[in-house]
Parts: sequence; structure tokens; C-alpha cells
Amino acid sequence: MQLLTNILNQKSRKYYFLLGIIWLTILVVFWTQSVNAQREDLEKSLPPLRSHSLPLTLIEWQDSKNLGDYFDKISLSPAGYLIWSQFPIKFYLDRPTNLNTPDAASTHRFLQWVDTVLKAITEWQNFLPMVEVKDPQLADIVIKRTEPPLGVNFDSETGKLQIPRARSAQTSYKFYLTQDKPPVLRHRMTIKISPGLSQLSILSASRHELGHGLGIWGHSDQETDALYFSQVRNLSPISVRDINTLKKIYQQPTRLGWELP
Ligand SMILES: [Zn+2]
Repeated sequence: MQLLTNILNQKSRKYYFLLGIIWLTILVVFWTQSVNAQREDLEKSLPPLRSHSLPLTLIEWQDSKNLGDYFDKISLSPAGYLIWSQFPIKFYLDRPTNLNTPDAASTHRFLQWVDTVLKAITEWQNFLPMVEVKDPQLADIVIKRTEPPLGVNFDSETGKLQIPRARSAQTSYKFYLTQDKPPVLRHRMTIKISPGLSQLSILSASRHELGHGLGIWGHSDQETDALYFSQVRNLSPISVRDINTLKKIYQQPTRLGWELP
């Protein structure tokens, strides 16, 4: 009798287990369908993914040595690759407002900061055309001389939050719709570069952040690239691999720079 009950119990356990699996499968199918439907709704309201024609500077770029790229490290934004499609790209750069300020030393430091950031801009201008505008509202890339906000990191090993002492530079982006009819989906980049850096650090930080601002939204794992993930003491010039990556990004489809459906 005991044996029979055991067998029955085992059978009913199997039965409930199977029933559980079936319910779980049904739930997963419904959940996936609703997520897919939401995604399709969102995709219908955004411009479809399309490629822009490559700017002449990148058409002309050739790497005869095949030094490779780090395209696989580039992350996609919700609107696709962060590609500029109107050239020259308009940038606004913080400049001292009052050149007759009594504190000449601080103005001098500001002017040095401006000169150094302009040097990095000139380097990138060989690959993508850029022009300075005086009104930040009209700029695609706004470059500010300000302390970037401190990010808070979570250390999974200690389970504690870490606040780094300082951050030298940071780039962020925002999407917006133009006033056109139909509106065009565009993005704007903001680069913050700390005023308290040495000239060399300002150069390497602005070179690196401008790479992000122009669309290289990821990091290289090679120290010889300007977009190497650690900015500390990285004085690498813009490398062939940086530009190979940039060119590959600009060949990708994006929702940016296209009209809403
Ligand atoms: Zn970076």
C-alpha cells in the first residue's frame, strides 16, 4: 500500500511539474509578444534605419596597412549609431567673456585651455569638417570648460558605492526633434572638460572626448589609440585604427538625421 502511494505521489509530482512548465511557457510567450509589440510600436514612430552618404573626407580615407579597428566595441544608441549627417558639424566652444578681467592669470589659463581644445579639434577636422558657432543653441557639439559631474560606481566585490575623486572629462548626448514638417530626429553632444588639468591632459582628454562626440561611442583596448578606455596618461594621437573605426561607423544605418514617418 505504502509503495502504491509513493508511486502515485511521484506521478502527481511529475504531473504538477509538467503543468508548471506549461504555464511558464505560456507566460513567457505572452510576455515576449507584448515586448515585441511595444518595440514595433516604438519603431513605427521613429525614423527607419537608413545610411547617410559618407562625407568626402572619409571616402578618401584609406588604410593600406590594414591595421584594423575596434568597431565591435562601439555601442548602439536607441536611435542607432551616433552619426552626423550635416557638414560642417557645428561646435560651440567656451571662451572667456571678459578679456579685461582684473584676474589676468585666470584669463590666461582659460585662453590656454581654449587653444589646446582647438588643437584637438584641428586634428579631427582632417577627418570630419567642423566649424565654430558663437551661439550654443545652434551647435551640434557644445564644449564646456567645467568640472564634469562625479559618477558613482558600484563595486560588486565590496558591495559599496565608490565616488571617484575627480573626473577629467565627460561626453553625453541628447536627442531632439527639429521644427521641420515632418520633424527630423537629431542629436546634440555636450563635452565637459575640466579647467584644472595640465595642458597635456587637456589635449588628450579633448582628443578622446571629441572622438566620442563625433560618433565613436565605445573604447579601444589598445593604448596606442586616442579612444583607449583609460584616459589617464594616454597621450596617443588619433590613430589609423581610430579613423578605420570612425569610417565604419559612418557606413552604418541610423535613425538620426532622418524624418519621422
Ligand atoms: Zn571615453
